[in-house]
Amino acid sequence: MQKVKIESQLNPNYNFNNFVEGDSNRLARSAGMAVANKPGGTSFNPLLIYGGVGLGKTHIAHAIGVDIKDKYPDKTVLYISSEKFTQQFIDSVKSNTRNDFIHFYQMIDVLIIDDVQFLSGKTGTQDVFFHIFNHLHQNGKQVILTSDKAPVDMQDIEQRLLSRFKWGLSAELQAPDYETRISILQNKLFRDGVEMPEDIVEYIAKNIKSNVRELEGVIISMIAQASFNRREYTLELARQIVDKFVKNTKKEVSIDYIQKVVSKYFDMDVATLQSKTRKRHIVQARQLAMFFAKRMTKSSLASIGSQIGHRDHATVLHACKTVDNLTETDKQFRKYVDDLTKKLTF
Ligand code: ADP
Ligand code: MG
Repeated sequence: MQKVKIESQLNPNYNFNNFVEGDSNRLARSAGMAVANKPGGTSFNPLLIYGGVGLGKTHIAHAIGVDIKDKYPDKTVLYISSEKFTQQFIDSVKSNTRNDFIHFYQMIDVLIIDDVQFLSGKTGTQDVFFHIFNHLHQNGKQVILTSDKAPVDMQDIEQRLLSRFKWGLSAELQAPDYETRISILQNKLFRDGVEMPEDIVEYIAKNIKSNVRELEGVIISMIAQASFNRREYTLELARQIVDKFVKNTKKEVSIDYIQKVVSKYFDMDVATLQSKTRKRHIVQARQLAMFFAKRMTKSSLASIGSQIGHRDHATVLHACKTVDNLTETDKQFRKYVDDLTKKLTF
C-alpha cells in the first residue's frame, strides 16, 4: 500500500524527559518506553494506560508517540482522541466514505487513541474500531489506548472489544505519592526557571494529592500572581491559591486551639491574649488569633469575638483588615502569619 504523509498530531511538550518517574507511574512509564523502543514488537499490544483524571495518561500517550517518531521517523504515528475518532467516523458515514475512513486507519503503524471510555454506548464506532484494531494487530502494528477505568470496569463497551483490550498490557497510573509530587513540582519550577522556597513547595505537595494537573495549576497561578500582581512567593499566597483548587478540605480547627497556638508562639498565656490590655504585641497576637479564627473556622465574626476575650464583631472585622494590611506591608508581621499558618495547617 502506498504511504501517504499523515500528521501525527503529537505534542512534543509531552515527552518522557519531562515525565517524572515515581512508584505511582513506573509500570506505565516503563511499558510506554518499551513500546516506543519496539512498536508492535512487544507483548504490550495493545498497551492500555488507565487511571484517574490529571494523572498523566495523555502525557504518556504523546510521549510514546514522540519517542517513536524520534527513533523511527518513517513510521506513521497518529494520536487521536476517541471523541474525534467518533466524529470522523460519523462524518464518513454521512458522506458515504466509510471505506476510506477504514483504509486510512489501517495504514497507520502506531495508533494512539486517548480516552476510549468515551466509546461507551457508541456501537457503530466500536464496531468499526474493532475491525481496524484487528487489522492493525494482525499486521504487527502498535495500538496504544488510554482510559479512565480498567477494562473490567468499562461499561457499554462490546465484549469482543473489551477482550481485545485485555490482550496486551493494562498499566495503571496511580496518584503520585508525596516524594513524587515534590519532584513534579520541582521539575516544573526548574523548567520555568522559577525559584520558590522549599516550605512553599512542601505546602503545595502536602495539600494537593490526587491530580497532577492541579499541582501544576497552583504553580502557574503562583507565577501569574507574582509577575502580574507583583506578589512575592509566600506561604500565604500559596495557601490562598491551594484553597481555590481543593474545596472543603480545610481542616476545621477550634478557636480554642488557635488561641493556644498563637499564645504559645508569642510566649504568652491565653488569658493574656484575651486580656483588655492595649500593649501592642498583645493586641497583635489577639488580632492574629481573630484573623486565623475567621479563616480557619466557620464561626461568625460575633462568635469569634465572644470567644476571644468577649469582643464584638466589629473588632474582629477590624482585626482581620489590620492583619491583611500588615501582611502586605510589614515583613516581620508577614513572618508571623507564615509561621502560624504552618503551625496551624501542617
Ligand atoms: P490525564 O490525561 O490523565 O487526565 P494529563 O496527561 O493531561 O492527565 O496530565 C495532566 C498534567 O499533569 C499534564 O500537564 C502533564 O504534563 C502533567 N503530569 C502528569 N503526570 C506527570 C509526571 N509524572 N511528571 C510530569 N508531569 C506530569
Ligand atoms: Mg487526558
